[in-house]
Amino acid sequence: MDLKKNDEIVVTIDNLGNQGEGVAHVDGYALFIKKALPGEKVLVRLMKLNKNYGFARLVEILEASPQRVEPACPMAKTCGGCSLQHLSYEGQLAFKEQKVRDCLKRIGGVEPPIWEPILGMTGEEKGKGTPVRPWNYRNKAQFPVREDESGNPAVGFFANRSHRLIPVDNCAIQHPVINEVVGEVLGFMRECHIPAYQEEKHSGLVRHIYVRRGYHTGQIMVCLIINGKSLPHSEKLVQRLKKVEGMTSISLNVNTKKTNVILGEKMIWLEGAPYIEDTIGDIRYRISPQSFYQVNPIQTEKLYRTALEFADLHGDENVWDLYCGIGTISLFLAQRAKHVTGVEIVPEAVENARENAKLNGITNAEFYCGAAEEVAGKLIREEGQGQDTVDVVVVDPPRKGCDSALLDTIVNIRPKRVVYVSCDPATLARDVKILGEKGYRVEKARACDMFSQGEHVETVVLLSDKRVDGHIDIDLDVEKLESTGGRATYAEIKDYVKEKYGYSISSLYIAQIKNKVGLEKRDNYNHGSGEGSVPECPQEKEEAIMDAFKHFRLI
Ligand code: SAH
Repeated sequence: MDLKKNDEIVVTIDNLGNQGEGVAHVDGYALFIKKALPGEKVLVRLMKLNKNYGFARLVEILEASPQRVEPACPMAKTCGGCSLQHLSYEGQLAFKEQKVRDCLKRIGGVEPPIWEPILGMTGEEKGKGTPVRPWNYRNKAQFPVREDESGNPAVGFFANRSHRLIPVDNCAIQHPVINEVVGEVLGFMRECHIPAYQEEKHSGLVRHIYVRRGYHTGQIMVCLIINGKSLPHSEKLVQRLKKVEGMTSISLNVNTKKTNVILGEKMIWLEGAPYIEDTIGDIRYRISPQSFYQVNPIQTEKLYRTALEFADLHGDENVWDLYCGIGTISLFLAQRAKHVTGVEIVPEAVENARENAKLNGITNAEFYCGAAEEVAGKLIREEGQGQDTVDVVVVDPPRKGCDSALLDTIVNIRPKRVVYVSCDPATLARDVKILGEKGYRVEKARACDMFSQGEHVETVVLLSDKRVDGHIDIDLDVEKLESTGGRATYAEIKDYVKEKYGYSISSLYIAQIKNKVGLEKRDNYNHGSGEGSVPECPQEKEEAIMDAFKHFRLI
């Protein structure tokens, strides 16, 4: 078929794309259509046509899917958020589970042998006995503030791929009190003639309203991000906000840069504590505005319980929790482990994590500030942690996934288990593949719906060291297994043998001889995986390697 922009055609939707958009094929050419569902026959207008795929707009639904529901949010038509709210909740869960499976298979090349069912916002609310609804769950909002068409301050979301504000005055996935707070701030701005930020001119004052609410405590934090050093009549803002039940912390954040980054560096505390508190399970957490905290409190507890279950702790393990935020997962783990080391890049979050350990009387958790990929190396060099001392590593990185240097470090120290908590199945799958190539096998996986009505999904994957049960890939990069602590590296041993004896030796041979003389306790270097045996180090090379060990004072 010859497709031209603005043509209207009828298509049938085959499946959903990664962003939850309907995908139809016309003679093999893929068309992406927002808000269309699999099985539906729809009339669409062709918009942008690239070489191999294009985009079309939904004009009319000719045959609707039985999974289609009326969106509950009055803003659904105009607001760019909540891409799946026209799909039944069961449909959303199935889509998310499939999305994770597809990514793991297509990008990661793995199909987890155990797949636990997705954790949805279903069942009864813990301690309340009322049914959980996949709405009004968000405990955090960061609304941009701009002028509406009449020049009044308004909050909303940016239209897709633009900075045009679509006013939203009652967001259906936020906790209602968050909408109330936003109403108070806008009322204050109108009353005191406080101008909204104007991006094009980089003028005006209030850029964002940032609100957070502790689900179990009801404590509320409000922070106005301003393009200036102070907020006129701020006492009036405080007066208004203090009327909102639960108001605990009111602050300003100064951000005068031309940037999309929301928070600036400087905080101005107006009233109350510089943090709010919330609980997850039995643990109480202190949360600063700059710290990350999961947005769906009902699901967070389920997610952490899954991570804890996958970590399979018995009380004598040393655990690393990398990308630990305010120590949420770390403190969950610490209750079952010997020791937990948390690493996080945001200093305020690390401070929260340390306070949180104290607040809960937890003494077996320590926190380090810095990039996980750098701090992990330091822990090995300076704190004596490393190979055979770390039993379980938990990672929970941002969307871009783990730094490759960090993955190298993890496989070098050879934990028995790696629990990967991820908010992006594509980068999860990429990293799982890398870990797989270095000897870690995916054991089980479980998705968790943290972002109901939207397309995002959280996943927990358990990987274990294949060699623990005798499986070893011959091409395993054993070179990196040992490269620290002032001892000779594999490369140094190889260079020495090459120089003195003229032989090239493999890392596997070094590992075998190390094992033979008791430098490393890994009897499985000598055995194959059953599918082909591992070559054995010849006598003359063994002697050369032994000589190198003596030279480097390993024996
Ligand atoms: N596990 C925590 C936080 C997960 S979000 C929780 O569930 O609450 C990811 C965290 O990684 C954020 O706190 C972010 O600040 C932090 N982060 C981002 N890049 C990092 C890096 N390179 N090293 C360490 N932490 C990083």
